[in-house]
This record gives sequence, structure tokens and C-alpha cells, in this order.
Amino acid sequence: MKLSDSIKYVKGIGEARAKLFAKLGIFTVQDMLFHLPRSLEDRSEVKAIADLIDGETVCVRAALAQGVKTYRTRGRVTVTQTFVSDGANIMKVTWFNAPYIANTLKSGGEFTFYGRAIYRGQVFEMINPVTESESGIKKTGRLLPVYPSTAGLGQTNLRNAVENILDNLEEFPKDIIPNSLAAENNLLPLFPALKNLHCPQSADAFEAARQRLAFEELLVLQTGIRIMGEERKNYSATPIKNVKCIAEFAKALPFELTKAQKRVINEISADLTKTTPMNRLVQGDVGSGKTMVAAAAMYAAANSGYQAILMAPTEILAMQHFKNLKKLFSSFGFETVLLSGGMSAKEKRESISKIKSGEAKIIVGTHALISEGVEFSNPALVITDEQHRFGVRQRTTLTEKGLGAHTLVMTATPIPRTLSLILYGDLDISVIDELPPGRKPIETYTANEKMRKRVFDFVANKIHQGRQVYIICPLIEESEALIAKSAIEYAENLKKTALKNFRIEVLHGRIKAAQRKEIMDKFTAGEIDILVSTTVIEVGVDVANASVMLIENAERFGLSQLHQLRGRIGRGEYESYCIMFSEGGKIAEERMKIMCDTNDGFKISEKDLELRGPGEFFGVRQHGLPELKVANLSLDMQLLSHAKDAAEKLLSADPKLNLPENQLLKNKIHSRFSEVSENGILN
Ligand code: ADP
Ligand code: MG
Repeated sequence: MKLSDSIKYVKGIGEARAKLFAKLGIFTVQDMLFHLPRSLEDRSEVKAIADLIDGETVCVRAALAQGVKTYRTRGRVTVTQTFVSDGANIMKVTWFNAPYIANTLKSGGEFTFYGRAIYRGQVFEMINPVTESESGIKKTGRLLPVYPSTAGLGQTNLRNAVENILDNLEEFPKDIIPNSLAAENNLLPLFPALKNLHCPQSADAFEAARQRLAFEELLVLQTGIRIMGEERKNYSATPIKNVKCIAEFAKALPFELTKAQKRVINEISADLTKTTPMNRLVQGDVGSGKTMVAAAAMYAAANSGYQAILMAPTEILAMQHFKNLKKLFSSFGFETVLLSGGMSAKEKRESISKIKSGEAKIIVGTHALISEGVEFSNPALVITDEQHRFGVRQRTTLTEKGLGAHTLVMTATPIPRTLSLILYGDLDISVIDELPPGRKPIETYTANEKMRKRVFDFVANKIHQGRQVYIICPLIEESEALIAKSAIEYAENLKKTALKNFRIEVLHGRIKAAQRKEIMDKFTAGEIDILVSTTVIEVGVDVANASVMLIENAERFGLSQLHQLRGRIGRGEYESYCIMFSEGGKIAEERMKIMCDTNDGFKISEKDLELRGPGEFFGVRQHGLPELKVANLSLDMQLLSHAKDAAEKLLSADPKLNLPENQLLKNKIHSRFSEVSENGILN
């Protein structure tokens, strides 16, 4: 068997099942080998019946003590039952709706039963235990890997596939980590590590192997980020000499900038005067006033005769920025234009021409700005807002278009500082850690189905008082189409509730940009009472009169996302309320409690990081970097810091990774970052 062989040729898989493997991203033998378990199930403990503890899940080795009885209950359940003995004591075993188990038991001899032992009237009983005869031990008496799986493809399918591959493989995957580096960091060689993950001999061996693969993943990430950072230094930017003018700008505002805003503007100003391009990330909670900070920098650029560009991830947000900035900058005599996909061809042509001629100094848009045919006249500053919605690719393309421009990235997804320093190794970071004065904190509550009527009555009350309401629909993973459908159905159902007489509209990703704008305009104008929306509402929308938000199935959202959503309210003078309908167990409750207890985005992001379980990643893909499969940023901080050191050392010895021993690593970085940068980052 070769690594590149199709998965369908592995014994027991075939054409039809291969489609299920494909859903997991497994197409070849190699893919399967790198489809790593996310945890272990410990079935290694084998106990004598005499030592069993009520309620524990263990293995018992025993032989049949009597014949097997099979009967049907009135409820048409097939019951298979017998007693087994380990030589000293007796245990009862029962299976429901598994008549075939009688065949397994026919062979006689010893069996291993793995299940929960319950003490029932003088005797222990196991119900539906995993049962294996001595000849075919696979699923009991050992540690078993637990894989990410999909409907129709169970753990057994995945385990069997891996086992078959490990038995028949004629070549080994190549280790991308150079030998010297592996030795320095005491790393297991790749293949033994893979084996330890798929067929773990002990929990320690499994963890050591996991760390080996996590290290590799983080090394690729760190090396890639550093190389990107280095490449940017090759560019030079137009220095904006006069930044003092920002003081006049600030004076013209209807409010005093916060201390934090002033500090960040100063940090940005210092960068702008240099010929080294600014590469700065501004983190600030929702409502902290990032737009004003951006506008101050844009003012400095425009005042010196250059263009300043602000790119937003959605049409709604771009439009909103455009409206605000146009008003602001017209008072200074600068022309502001918008360029976004939803505009008519004629409007677009007009904007593009003003951008090219340099007539437009303040340019706002969506990623339409990086499309073919857009030429800037003299860009000096490129700002991307809510950057986690963009891939690094777009960031880079825009930077390249505006070659010679300073770049500023703004994000409202605060991430813990330790993490951001490492993840954004190539960026300088400023934090706006203060909200403008006079904000009323948002009161946040959880609710369950029983409270629905009360909640809806409360909502109705608020609308009667003149307020407006957002309702965020449950998150469904499947597809845009399904998400849209659920929002539409939800709004339909509202018409059967106490909210039926209000003006309700639906907003989702499948609605065309022009129509979406219409809906948002109506909502802003107060002509809609309740906006039922999917998460398209998440970023930047600013309607001060909207003071209530209901979130359905809140447990399905990440904490940071809930915080983002909640940031849509509490933007005006009114007391605001966020009510989260949620169900689920302890973890869900714990997460909801955090939301109710604090409005601090940084605290929430730290908790978010802490609470996300293994296998889930945080902050990487959504920040435009390649996804992590093995490493867990909440558990592997130390590993991350090792990987960072290793990457630094590696690159200081071989900055372009041109040495022969670094080629495999270089290729890996290329492929991992390829979705990120079209041209590759290592030319
Ligand atoms: P962010 O993008 O960080 O979520 P915005 O820039 O949209 O926040 O600002 C939110 C609101 O606060 C806007 O209406 C803005 O005009 C206002 N604002 C910004 N800075 C101040 C300030 N220093 N004092 C009072 N209001 C402010
Ligand atoms: Mg904003």
C-alpha cells in the first residue's frame, strides 16, 4: 500500500464508503494516517467481578456460566441474556435488540465484556457491553483512539481503516522537521509518533505523540508568520510628515476622544511618519471607538494629499462607514467615495474613476476594492476593519495594491494578549481598553423555553416604549441556504406569538446587497420593530434605538461571537437587554454565566480560550491563518512558545529556508499558507 493510494482501496471501504471519508477530508491513505484522534477512550482496565465498584465502566474477562436466553418483550424488544463467571464470581449480562450477540457467544471460551457494571440485588449486571472473544481482541482491554467522525462513519470504521493501513503500508511519510531541530527539541520521529496516536500503548505515549505533531503544526505556523513579516519589511511606505494636524481634527469632533483613543492615535502617528510601513493591529472592544481612531489616521493622510482606504468585510458595514466618514470628512473638504459589490455598474465606474484620478481622498469599500480594475492614485494608508473576517490573503493583496502604504488592521475580537503577541508575531499591537463615557452596561440574562412568554411580553413592552429589537436565529452549520431558511421560518413563527402585530423583517446572507441595505435603512429609520437576523448582523451595525437582543440557542455560539452580537445593542442612551435562550449541560451554563457576569471582551476571550475543548481551535482560522488540527492553543501555550523559539532559530540560520534539510518544511509551509497567499510567501 502506498501513501498516495485512494482510500477506497483500503480493505472494507470501497466506493460508497469512500464518500463518507471524503467528508472528513480523507481521500488517500496518507490523509487517513494524518486523521488524528482527538482523544482516548480508556478500556484498558480489566477487573475481577469481586473487585467491581457499582457504576464503574471497565472490562471483565469471564466465560459463560449458563446457556444464552433470548426472548421478546411485549414492547417488541429482543432481550438476550446470560450469566458469566470469572471462576470466582458470577455477573449478569444483558443485551437489548442485539440478537446476533448469541452467535458471538456460541464459540465458548473466555470473553471480554466492556461496559458499565451496575449492582442489582446481589449480582453485578452489564447492559449492552462491548463483547469480544479471546481470539479477536480489538475493542477491549486497551486504549482506543477516538476520531473526529461523521454521520454513517463510526469509530470502528475509522479504527479498522487505520489498522489496515498500518499493517500494509510499504512506505513511511517523510518527516518534515529537520534532524538537528528534532534532536534539539527531543522530538519523537514522525512515524512512531503517528503509531502512538493511532494505537496508543499508554496515555503518556499518546500525549507525547500528540505533542510531537502539535509542535510540528505550530512550527509551520510560526515559521510562516515570521517569513511573512520579514517579507513586508522589504516594502517601503510613504511617510506622512504632518501628523500634528490630527489635533485640529480631534478638536472638530463633537466629543472628547478617550484617553485610550488618544494613546492609540499617538502610536499610529509615530508609525505614519516613517518610511518603514506601519503594520499595526488595533484591538478594541465593540463600541470602543475604533472608527474614530481610523478616521484620525485617514485625516492625516488626506491632509497631506494622499489617499486613505478603509476596507470592511460586509456591504452593510462598508455602507455604514461610508455614511459616517462622508459626513465627517465633507466638513474638512475631502471627498469620500464608496466601492462595493452591491452598487450599480454606473456608480462603480464613477467611484473607480475618482479613485484613479486621486479626486477621492477617503475611500471606503468591501473587497471590491481589491478586484481587477481598481487603481489607486497615491495611497498612503490602508485600513482593514474587523479583520478576522478577512483572510491574510486579502490583507496582503490590498497591501500590495497600495504598495508603499501603511497598514492598520482593526479588530473587535479581542484575544488574550499572550496569544496575540504570538499569533500576530508580524504585527505591532495597540489596544483601546476603555469605552467612551456614559455607556450604560448591557444587562444580560439567560432564559429557557418556560420563560418564553414572559420574554416575549417584555419585548412587546419595550417596543411599545419605542425601542427596537434584534432576534438572532440559531446557528446552523450546514449551509447558507439552510441558515436563511431557518431565519425565514423563525420570522413566520413569530406571527403566531405575542409579537405578531409588530413590524418584523428578516435579514440573512442570501438577501442581495441592495435589498439588505434597504432593510438596514428601514431599521435605522425606525420603520422595523423586530429584525430577525442570522449572524450577518454581527459586525459593526450601529442603531442606537435598538436596545433589546434575543439570541436563540445561544449555547451554539462561541463566547466571543456572543459578545460581538451583543455589541449591537447598548449603543445609545437606553438601558439595554440581551436575553439568551439556551439549553444544554454544565459547560453551556458556565459559558452563559460568563456572558451574564461581564461585558469585558478581553475577559470573555480568555474564558473562551479556556473553555473550548481539545480539537476545537480558536483565533486561528478566524484570524486568517491556517487552521490547527492537533495543537490546542489553550493547552499548548508552552509548546507554542517552544515552536516560536525554534522558528526564530531556524530562520536566523537559513532565512529563506534554502538549505536542503529544510526543503520539506518549506514545502509544507507553502501548502499550509497557500490558501492564505496566492503567490506563495517564499518566492
Ligand atoms: P467600534 O468600531 O470600536 O465598535 P465605533 O467606532 O463604531 O466603535 O464607535 C461607537 C460609537 O461611539 C459611535 O457612535 C461613535 O461615534 C461613538 N464614539 C467614538 N468615540 C467616542 C468618544 N470618545 N466619546 C463619545 N462617543 C464616541
Ligand atoms: Mg467598528
